[in-house]
Amino acid sequence: MIVAAHRQSRPWVGASIGVDDARLPSYDESCYLCPGNARVSGKVNPRYSGIFVFDNDHPCVGADAPAEIVQPPAPYSVRRADGVARVICYSPRHDLTLARMPVSDIEVVVDTWRRETHDLGARPEVNQVLIFENKGEVVGVSNPHPHAQIYATNFTWQTFDTELSAQRRYARDTGAGRGLFDDIIRAEEEDGRRVLYADEHVIAFLPYFARYAYEVYVAPRRRVAHVSDLSDHEIAALARALKDVTVRYDNLWRQSFPYVMPLHQAPTDGGDYRDFHFFVGFLPPLRRPNTLKYLAGPEIGGGNFLSDTSPEAMAIELRALSTVHYLDERATPPTTPTTPAPVQRA
Ligand SMILES: [Zn+2]
Repeated sequence: MIVAAHRQSRPWVGASIGVDDARLPSYDESCYLCPGNARVSGKVNPRYSGIFVFDNDHPCVGADAPAEIVQPPAPYSVRRADGVARVICYSPRHDLTLARMPVSDIEVVVDTWRRETHDLGARPEVNQVLIFENKGEVVGVSNPHPHAQIYATNFTWQTFDTELSAQRRYARDTGAGRGLFDDIIRAEEEDGRRVLYADEHVIAFLPYFARYAYEVYVAPRRRVAHVSDLSDHEIAALARALKDVTVRYDNLWRQSFPYVMPLHQAPTDGGDYRDFHFFVGFLPPLRRPNTLKYLAGPEIGGGNFLSDTSPEAMAIELRALSTVHYLDERATPPTTPTTPAPVQRA
């Protein structure tokens, strides 16, 4: 990827992204995720009080996939996409994002990721459990009720395939099974400038190779291949780190901060994944308030990211912020980023 931070201030006449930061009600009678409301399928949500997990009414994979597959002519091939798709409502509150939840409630969310990964990953037809949260209209979320999704599929996902092969290659090339992510964590701690949160179990940082302006990794120090392998202490620490990061995000521009947040996990097909290091990634699409990082020629065309910002400068902004949510207490205003020269990073 390429860092060209001097471009951040280039003239911009493109579309401005409206951020709908109107205060949401704690209950919305038209929301299909709120307790007691009917969903499109006609099913009615229970009057749940904690977390609520249900099978997606419009799954991308599942039992409704066609059983009979007609093979197309070469070079194409096709196979049945099977699996389970679920929705995890974080809480009955329509307005309670991770950033606003108490750490103890975030811990219940992370514990649910752990349980679902364990249970769905044990199914013979499931080869990978993809868990993610899309947050904000700007990433296409039609319903603001805070929720994550699970795609437990009979195929694996390319991002994690790529990470797995990079980690295996690194372990082989450096000898003695050295972990790529172990060394990334070590490098980030030694540098220190991009670290947002660290305790004995978990670390959160903007990676040296961040593609998005405010990209953050939240990782357990101990190398495990799945969230389901974490101990209770590590789950609690992960919850504290997620709270820290999401509060900083909201405090940055004093608005609800959009992101795509995937859990990076190894497959669950019984293979040897000792080289894979589980972590949570935050990919925020905005590089400024109301300004999208557009993917264009370099990214979609060339396959490399051209970042308009340096992670060190963005880390200065995020590190300067209060870890108390601005709706709970007045936060420190963000600082002005610096503009270092372009450099290539690998
Ligand atoms: Zn709702």
